[in-house]
Amino acid sequence: MKIRAAVLEQFGQPLVVQDIDIAGPKEGEVLVKVHACGVCHTDLYTASGADPSGYCPCVLGHEGAGTVEEVGPGVRGLKKGDHVVTLFSPECGECVNCKSGKTNICTAIREQQGKGYLPDGTARLSRDGEPMRHFMGTSTFAEYTVMPEIALAKVDPEANMESICLLACGATTGIAAALWKAEVEEGSSVAVFGAGMVGLGAVAGARLRGAERIFVVDTSEKRLELAKRWGATDCLQAGETTVEEIVAATGGLGADYTFEATGLVEVMGQAVEAARLGWGLCTVLGVAGKGEKLEVIPRFLITGRTVQGGSFGGAKGRTHVPQLVDMYMRGELDLDGFVSHRITLDEVNKGFELMHHQDGIRSVIKFD
Ligand SMILES: [Zn+2]
Ligand SMILES: [Zn+2]
Repeated sequence: MKIRAAVLEQFGQPLVVQDIDIAGPKEGEVLVKVHACGVCHTDLYTASGADPSGYCPCVLGHEGAGTVEEVGPGVRGLKKGDHVVTLFSPECGECVNCKSGKTNICTAIREQQGKGYLPDGTARLSRDGEPMRHFMGTSTFAEYTVMPEIALAKVDPEANMESICLLACGATTGIAAALWKAEVEEGSSVAVFGAGMVGLGAVAGARLRGAERIFVVDTSEKRLELAKRWGATDCLQAGETTVEEIVAATGGLGADYTFEATGLVEVMGQAVEAARLGWGLCTVLGVAGKGEKLEVIPRFLITGRTVQGGSFGGAKGRTHVPQLVDMYMRGELDLDGFVSHRITLDEVNKGFELMHHQDGIRSVIKFD
């Protein structure tokens, strides 16, 4: 079948929207019609060529929501017409990691996914008979994609895809980190560094958990103002004295929970130092550049602070994403507010530009 897709042809160059071919689903795979897809920093990062594990040509995109069009042999949990959110982080439920209950890092298809292939080591995408690699196991900058069943979360069909597609990456990373990774307690103090999609998700999650004070730190006045919508109580302009300001405002001790959502190692250091003496828990969510190191003065650890991190906010995709969709449907999670721009697939490069200029929170590609 011919589909429209945004192809990364060359690093550092705009994506090229074109017709390519997609083959039907094989064993354990599902053909998904993509209805909406967010444009995330990781797409831009890979397109720029900065990601050392990146490759091209490939079809980018990993923040998708859509409907099941066809299922391959052996697919048991999904049928045609089901609504799904795509997962770059699968949940097989059977590997050692999944069974441990301690981590969301499923190892079932990790190796092939990292190389750009489906679990059997081949691609369903092609052009002029030449196979084309997938990206993050998702490739959702396309009208259709083929993915393994274990990388699809079945969700409430009533939910607006333009909003819930954000749960495929950015929104869940922040929200799940606050809800389930850090398990923010009622009445606690929280400091979130970075008021982009992930940081605002952490703010929303902290408020859902009943945090009393939620500090948000960013360089942009506009974003700080926005953060109030999701529950920020104290907005701080990022600067030299940020840590001191948070410590002073929390009785000289620091925040019970801190979240870093910038990917900057200096900011990660601040998030550690702003965590409370005795039990402060710092959760690192941003992706730092290759080879960069986080410096921590050991005294901060000896005096009771803990540093943890979580890919996808520690969320187990097939378990947690449907729960987050339900929270959205109950009006507990404001996902609609994260969608600042709606664009077409042909405007995907505009989505990158808007992100580059920090214009709005998220651009979402609408397919129909
Ligand atoms: Zn992402
Ligand atoms: Zn697994």
